[in-house]
Amino acid sequence: MTIPAIGPKRPDIDPKIPMNHEKSCAGVDLFRTVAAFLVVAIHTSPLASFSVTGDFFLTRVLARLAVPFFFTASGFFMISCYSCGCERLKKFVSRTLCIYGAAILLCLPLNVYNHYFEREPLLPTLIRDLVFDGTLYHLWYLPASALGGAIAWYLVRKWDYKRAFAAAWLLYLTGLGGDSYFGLTEQIAGSIPALGNFYGRLFEIMDQTRNGLFFAPLFFVCGGWMADRGRTLSLRQCLGGGILSFAMLCLEAAAVHLFGWPRFDSMYLLLPVCGFFLFQLLLQWRGRRFRSLRTFSLLVYLLHPLMIVAVRFLARPLRLQELLVENSAVHFLAVCLLTSLFAAAWAWLEPRFRGKNCEPDSGSKDTGRAWIEIDLSRLLCNARTLRELAPSGCELMAVVKASAYGHGAFRTASALEKAGVHAFAVATIDEAAALRSCGIRGEILVLGYTDVRRATELKRYDLIQTLTGFEYAEELNRRGIPVKTHLKIDTGMRRLGVPWDRPDQTEAVLSMPNLRVCGLFSHLCCADSPDAADIDFTQEQIRRFYSLTERLEQDGFSVPKLHIQSSYGLLNVPGLRCDYVRPGIALYGVHSSPDCLALRSPALRPVLSLKARVVLIRQLRTGESCGYGRAFTASRDARLAILSIGYADGVPRSLSCGKGRVLIRGRYAPIAGRICMDQLFADVTDIPGVSIGDIATLIGEDGGAALSAPDVAWAASTISNELLSRLGGRLPVVVRETGGAPDGTAAQSR
Ligand SMILES: *Cc1c(COP(=O)(O)O)cnc(C)c1O
Repeated sequence: MTIPAIGPKRPDIDPKIPMNHEKSCAGVDLFRTVAAFLVVAIHTSPLASFSVTGDFFLTRVLARLAVPFFFTASGFFMISCYSCGCERLKKFVSRTLCIYGAAILLCLPLNVYNHYFEREPLLPTLIRDLVFDGTLYHLWYLPASALGGAIAWYLVRKWDYKRAFAAAWLLYLTGLGGDSYFGLTEQIAGSIPALGNFYGRLFEIMDQTRNGLFFAPLFFVCGGWMADRGRTLSLRQCLGGGILSFAMLCLEAAAVHLFGWPRFDSMYLLLPVCGFFLFQLLLQWRGRRFRSLRTFSLLVYLLHPLMIVAVRFLARPLRLQELLVENSAVHFLAVCLLTSLFAAAWAWLEPRFRGKNCEPDSGSKDTGRAWIEIDLSRLLCNARTLRELAPSGCELMAVVKASAYGHGAFRTASALEKAGVHAFAVATIDEAAALRSCGIRGEILVLGYTDVRRATELKRYDLIQTLTGFEYAEELNRRGIPVKTHLKIDTGMRRLGVPWDRPDQTEAVLSMPNLRVCGLFSHLCCADSPDAADIDFTQEQIRRFYSLTERLEQDGFSVPKLHIQSSYGLLNVPGLRCDYVRPGIALYGVHSSPDCLALRSPALRPVLSLKARVVLIRQLRTGESCGYGRAFTASRDARLAILSIGYADGVPRSLSCGKGRVLIRGRYAPIAGRICMDQLFADVTDIPGVSIGDIATLIGEDGGAALSAPDVAWAASTISNELLSRLGGRLPVVVRETGGAPDGTAAQSR
């Protein structure tokens, strides 16, 4: 098939970018803790009692790497050329400011104790501290994060990385001139008075240049760049570069101090270089993430000043001042210990206060009757495989409607979100709101119709509503509530959407003031068909879609995010330029039907199995009948197993009377008689040894044999999509993470 290479122009994106850096975050997670304790070291000088030089290199050089590392890590997780709109930035800034607010309150007793509020003039000082310097010495980091993150984000967004780096370096060098190199600046200012004036003014507005304006942006840009590029260095290069740059950093620090240049000494010329190698080194570590360390290290950072005071307070009545305060190493350890204790307790308690588990896993106790088994590692493998199949720069929008096709919407979405998927699609506003309430933070697109009277809920839950037609868009716009939307284009399915050949309507919708149209999409209606006419029709739908987007561009509209491929669009039409692909059934690792077209057949594995217990064995004599309507009559002496699962659990009743079968002891047993609401009969006459308590597999694998969802669906004259989506009712779910790519290497390999 030839695909027209049309679509909106997007910045060139390197195809070898890792879409998912989940696996390389373990080192970053771990080092957060190290960095937090390095900050504690800066404020407690553990080596001061023993060696002046040692103390200098620990607190003034080595530990100076900690905060840049934090900035880089934040940039790494926040900035990416893939992120949609400014959502991630907004989330990051608002989260950081919330933490800042809480930290200010937490540290208020210390401010009072230090007579902070008796300063004159109070208000200007307060404003200066709030924006740049922090209301307590270590708190500057939080406003610097918010400001530096925002600056870096805009630099990367507005330009490319090259120019963003240039601008961030310029800011950094400016900051450097007011920090470790201030002495040099003053010397030069002798001949260039403007320079002296500049820094003079600057220090009226801020106390230091190590802040969100001059210091942080460079590290954020660097973090974002590494997220988009992945590991660019080998282990040897990291080690070599790291050691060399650190040695030079030490020399630089010693030199500027020898010259007596520093006004402060938090910034060095080689700090960004050294920080880069350190971060690259951490990215070499592949493995399981340590997410909870993020909260832990943040708490260590925020709490340690309080604990320094606490240790001093405790030492006095205990008469341990000499040990706990005067001995710098013991003092450091005591502060670390106390801080860790508090931080660990908090990190442990917090999810217990917050967390409600929206779809509890049943565990083994619920395998008594009938149950669904979900293998989450297969889900993640499938997601990764589909992502690799999608064009570069195209994100996965996981379709989790109808309880994620029976897999559990929250369970599925949260597993995918942890693996780096940021967009989800559901059918109804209630499905979307439920996901949001359970803590899903990514974008959630409602694919179906929502009553416009619920516009406030769309806004409250930060959902994206599909505009299902022109009149609907007008009606929603008239509500006067700004809502995020994606406009659906009807390119031939004739179900939902504004007709493709009415660009006037699309342009009118794009201009509606209350609709933030951040996406444009269409749906292919026969991409799974091997029929030549259908393949042509798919091409025609694609042509129609992209001719509309071209028309919009010509008319001066900025084209929003585009998506058109669901599972079979993705499998059968490579190379389309778009921002999302919307797979549903493929994500769950099965075909809709055994006869579907799949030009590309990546290794996908089924995520769901359906199982039930044998609860009774019946012997039937020849001629005896069983079940409703006596639909089964034994033509020989037969043995029937009664399984505790029925059509109310989602087993199609049309599988009755031998149309369907189940697996017991690795062998197929036909379904006998009519399927009841809560039970069914399986004819196990030919399977020796079947007994009460045996597990029957209705979908899945048993021994060497398998009953795939498409085969079961075929027997029931339907498709896997319907079969699976009807399972979401009353069955308990057992989650497994046994894993396994098709070659059995689990999810480790890339
Ligand atoms: C359900 C749905 C999908 C997912 O379809 P699959 O065939 O399961 O991949 C994608 N887009 C829209 C609009 C849908 O309704």
